[in-house]
Amino acid sequence: MRILVVEDDDRVARGLLTALKHAGYEVHRVGTAAAALSAPAADVVLLDLGLPDADGLEVLRELRHREGTAIITVTARGEERERVLGLRAGADDYVVKPFGTAELLARIEAVLRRTRSARAHDDTDPTLTLGTLTLTPSTRQARIATEPIALTRKEFDLLALLVRRAGTVVSRDLIVDQVWQAHWEAPSRTLDTHIAALRGKVGHAVRIDTVRGVGYRVDRPDPPDLPGLR
Ligand code: CA
Repeated sequence: MRILVVEDDDRVARGLLTALKHAGYEVHRVGTAAAALSAPAADVVLLDLGLPDADGLEVLRELRHREGTAIITVTARGEERERVLGLRAGADDYVVKPFGTAELLARIEAVLRRTRSARAHDDTDPTLTLGTLTLTPSTRQARIATEPIALTRKEFDLLALLVRRAGTVVSRDLIVDQVWQAHWEAPSRTLDTHIAALRGKVGHAVRIDTVRGVGYRVDRPDPPDLPGLR
């Protein structure tokens, strides 16, 4: 597993490199936004948002288009706005300085698990299910139990994205990026309209929660209580 560390502070970078190498990762470090964008591909990018030559969020927006790369932002304590903007721009997770090595390693492992299972799912399982909902991407068919549901192309893509990431918040920007292949300034009312339409069509089987200021989430239903297991 390769990790790209984007950090301009030498002292912080040295500590990170030591800890990550010790944990068995292959590590490459750069200190500027320009170097980050031309660095070799990595499985995980640890991205300091405070960089000397550009806004770290710009780097994030570029990097998230790279298939198979998870991004964890690194911000200083008190920079809550930066963290939220990072999540909205497609970061998979964040850590706040000063952070402990154990916490950082746990977060790296978690994002790697998520990206691996999402990839395995795409490759091997042609259907997506959530409760009674079944989506078949190859034929673009949607069903609730045995009843077919008519979805537009965008509604289908949007629902499939939420179901693939069930249990996590999917940011508005990631949705716009993946479903509309549009960039930062996409009309956000279009997304709201599609969410409203989906709620009308599948809301009786799938609850789509709004996470204010960030995006949307669907949750896997709790398994039914089994008598005798209480
Ligand atoms: Ca910095």
